Amino acid sequence: MYSITKLKEILDSNGFDFKKMYGQNFIIDANIINSIINKSEIDKDTLVIEIGPGAGALTGSLVEKAKNVLCYEIDTRLKPILDHMVQSDNLEIKYEDFLLSNVKEDIKKYSYKKLYVVANLPYYITTPIIIKLIEDKILPDKIVVMVQKEVGDRFKAKPNSKDYSSLSIYLSYYYDIKKVLDISKNVFMPKPNVDSIVVMFNKKENNLKVNDETLFFKLVKDAFKMKRKNLRNNLKDYDLDKVNEVLKKYNFDLTARAEQLSIDIFIDLANNLNIQ
Ligand code: SAM
Repeated sequence: MYSITKLKEILDSNGFDFKKMYGQNFIIDANIINSIINKSEIDKDTLVIEIGPGAGALTGSLVEKAKNVLCYEIDTRLKPILDHMVQSDNLEIKYEDFLLSNVKEDIKKYSYKKLYVVANLPYYITTPIIIKLIEDKILPDKIVVMVQKEVGDRFKAKPNSKDYSSLSIYLSYYYDIKKVLDISKNVFMPKPNVDSIVVMFNKKENNLKVNDETLFFKLVKDAFKMKRKNLRNNLKDYDLDKVNEVLKKYNFDLTARAEQLSIDIFIDLANNLNIQ
């Protein structure tokens, strides 16, 4: 059983020097750990990837629930602490930069039915981590991550909200995303300056029917290029008659702005432009 009291003692007695550049804010509240673990619904068919185990606050519970846990930690100073805090046969810790790691290769040796990512992420690289999980085709079945509130709000944003962007659409192409917890600043050591939330990404079963993904993602990016501009301006390099024809089906026209359109409308647009 992982002990938060022991964790605090170890960090204090070692005079552990928290590195801001690595986003080191460690969880020191057992209730928060339990909530994250419960929301994750990990079982003995699950391989869990944890990015940034820190001193093992989450890791200790992950190894109890999961079949295997694979961690990536950039800071080798944490090795003696992690060795002391969490020992388990089903735990592997790689001391390397997650963004440079070959996860696809690393997970080949494991057998599992479900692949989850559960982590309190280093906030300075939250979006690159999520994008890597998608671009490297790791595509976990579930991602449960603690992130800075503003970043999480962008991930899960819906049309007509200020946080809705090409990133929200990109992510919603692969995942259903929702907030599962609000987190107080007081549960961390040291206390961060920003508010946090835990967001859950559930992989979409039936991928949406996009004929040409490259065109689709380019169209979405272009549509949001200049925030204040309407689609006539942002999409002026496309066949505007065609764009207008599709928009009409949804009671929009070229004066609409990208932030008003759902992912389904973007897909319809891309698929129609595709057949030129
Ligand atoms: N999981 C621990 C917890 O909740 O108490 C620590 C979370 S702390 C917010 C982020 C952790 O990510 C730190 O341990 C930090 O050293 C690690 N980290 C930062 N950049 C990293 C990277 N590029 N690859 C892997 N780990 C990284």
